[in-house]
Amino acid sequence: MKYGIFSDVHGNLPALEKVLSKLKSLGAEKFACGGDIVGYGAEPEKCIEIVKSLDCVTVAGNHDWAVVNLINPDLFNIYARSAVFWTQEKLNADDLDYLKNLPLRANLNLFEVSHGTVNAPENFDYIQSLEDAQLSFDEMETNLCFLGHSHVPISFFEIDNSVSYSLETKIVIDSNIKTLINVGSVGQPRDENHLASCAIYDTDKKEVHIHRVEYDIDKAAKAIIDAKLPKILAFRLYEGK
Ligand code: ZN
Repeated sequence: MKYGIFSDVHGNLPALEKVLSKLKSLGAEKFACGGDIVGYGAEPEKCIEIVKSLDCVTVAGNHDWAVVNLINPDLFNIYARSAVFWTQEKLNADDLDYLKNLPLRANLNLFEVSHGTVNAPENFDYIQSLEDAQLSFDEMETNLCFLGHSHVPISFFEIDNSVSYSLETKIVIDSNIKTLINVGSVGQPRDENHLASCAIYDTDKKEVHIHRVEYDIDKAAKAIIDAKLPKILAFRLYEGK
């Protein structure tokens, strides 16, 4: 079985469409989403519709929660906050309800999904150090968890109580090694690579591969500018940061 894992779509429809067609072309039959379907991008309602149609496990991101007032948008920078208010106006009651009811963590037995840390997902903290990763490892119920939030693909491993990390795009899954994999962002990559990021988990081969996908940035950027969202949200897509 191959799972397509993606996160941080952020209302970027052209990126989401390309990522899903890439994942399907690689054999993905089931999907999991690490949250932040909305925020920043100009087509949140279509992105929600597509994610819903995948009938996949999806966890809540901080932007999803901010849009439904489960966290205070004042915690965000001015551009993110203005996108939160814009998105609130754009979505209908059903979509807002959908975001409000997303769980913070999901356990599919084969693996788990969380947006930020596993130990305190409601705080939406980033895993910025090996110590942060250790706190998440301590709370994991399985040996593998997929994350989003930082928009930077990176993996952490716990072997014999020692934590390490890797930026490799092929990750071997070993039941004796706890593994956290940040799959990067579909709609707003921030590792200075403008290509949309996603992953395939092949449960038979026990391998995860991070893939980067070209998409029509001009189209996503134009939609942001036409929607009168902050222009910086369009320009940053070209730079991948
Ligand atoms: Zn995000």
